Amino acid sequence: MSISLLPAVQAFLQRDHGLFIDGRAQVAGSDRKLEVIDPASGEVIARVGEASPADIDAAVASARKGFAQWSQAAPAVRGAVLLKLADLLESNNEELAQIETLQSGKLIQISRHFEVAQAAHFLRYYAGWATKIGGETITPSLPSFNGEKYTAFTLREPIGVVVGIVPWNFSTMIAIWKLASALVTGCSVVIKPSEFTPLTILRIAELAVEAGLPAGALNVVTGAGGVGKALIEHPQTDKVSFTGSVPTGLAVGQTAMAANLTRATLELGGKNAAGFLPDVDVEKAVNGIIEAGFLHSGQICAAAERFYVHRSQIHAITQRLCERLSQLKISSPLDESAEFGPVTNKQHQAKLGQLFAKARAENCTILHGGQLIDGPGCYVEPTVILANSARDSLMTEETFGPVATFLAYDSEEELVELMNDSPYGLSASLWTNDLGKAMRLIPQIQAGTLWVNMHTLLDPAVPFGGIKASGVGREFGGAFIEDYTELKSVMIRY
Ligand code: NDP
Repeated sequence: MSISLLPAVQAFLQRDHGLFIDGRAQVAGSDRKLEVIDPASGEVIARVGEASPADIDAAVASARKGFAQWSQAAPAVRGAVLLKLADLLESNNEELAQIETLQSGKLIQISRHFEVAQAAHFLRYYAGWATKIGGETITPSLPSFNGEKYTAFTLREPIGVVVGIVPWNFSTMIAIWKLASALVTGCSVVIKPSEFTPLTILRIAELAVEAGLPAGALNVVTGAGGVGKALIEHPQTDKVSFTGSVPTGLAVGQTAMAANLTRATLELGGKNAAGFLPDVDVEKAVNGIIEAGFLHSGQICAAAERFYVHRSQIHAITQRLCERLSQLKISSPLDESAEFGPVTNKQHQAKLGQLFAKARAENCTILHGGQLIDGPGCYVEPTVILANSARDSLMTEETFGPVATFLAYDSEEELVELMNDSPYGLSASLWTNDLGKAMRLIPQIQAGTLWVNMHTLLDPAVPFGGIKASGVGREFGGAFIEDYTELKSVMIRY
């Protein structure tokens, strides 16, 4: 049974949504409206104004002004504001979670416990960095000629105005990653949410003001088809942080470089691999595959899509996986007992339908699912496919959906070769009870993040980002600081 919507959520949806600039909600300058559609019902739940070119200018000007003030705030003040925002996310968890579920189709339990609760956890982690960012002191290397002395030190200075382009799969949490990285280093930020999921960040911007963030430090610009590009090309933008598809990421990187050597952090997808060694227990492997490939209907950039299982076990593991998937409760994402919901939009559902058709055309064996589910919502069956070869489309093209494609391997050398046989390298996982074997394989696997006996769990303390065509730069840990600050070297003669 679906939960009832909070009165605050109903009132929020009714609002005339627009932009958030200079510390307040503003009406968009264009008369075009984005229709936000609930992917579970296909109904329009809210309308959001699209930014005009003048709005884009206003947002960046606001961020520039916000930067002048925020970059001068004491580190402890910056940390305190982020901590307060984390508290406000928690005290408004149910409201934000319901809005997130309505706009994205994410199961309400995932919205509550993962999107919003984890966003607060990440914010607190980032807040801790505010008082710990610093440079180093250096003794210059050259000898002195006339008794003069030299000393040097480095400063980490905020880059300036950051544009954060946020995708629709985790529109609350990824917005928080981007704004937290920017704000804690003293940058200001303009968030451009996906046209499909623009709502939660508009509410979070209001909470940020309540938390004490000065006007202009955080701005939100909504729209579709050219808004992101215009923000990056703006002469007052200093950096873009993009999460999304590989082709758009390449375009974003090119736009940024051509604009003004604008700095870019690109967190892109790929075709992540999971390799199961022959010693793994079937039930544990199946639990792992569900975690790696089916959480949030596989709409996670780090999710696994290529599954390599030793030939001796492939039948047992895929058979048990199909049994488990057939028991999942597919229901409304507002049903607290639902285990599987819709994908986030019709375009994505249609793309998955095309990939299923490709799998059939290439004579792959569809062991489970492989159909779109009829109805007004964007439901897709959880799907298990047995590929014929590493070159099949389902082994090379990102589905970004609830689709696990399997291939059998015979030797460890072949497993490593298959796992690395991709232009991408965001994440990968190895599954084994043999720690020594895992330790020997870890250096051989090409991925920005490699998990052992787990997949998809992101922790703010552990750097995350891709190698090869899966991205540039890192989020989380201390590693993000390099991407949001410029290093200034100071040398003194005395
Ligand atoms: P995209 O990856 O295409 O990104 C769309 C966003 O990028 C929009 O906000 C858009 O803004 C902006 N954008 C597009 N072109 C440019 C540009 N040249 N410069 C700056 N910004 C730009 O996402 P889609 O929603 O279209 O999803 C497409 C596919 O991507 C999905 O089917 C899925 O497979 C994958 N995906 C991967 C994700 C990941 O985390 N790896 C996340 C989400 C989707 P504007 O509308 O203003 O142009």
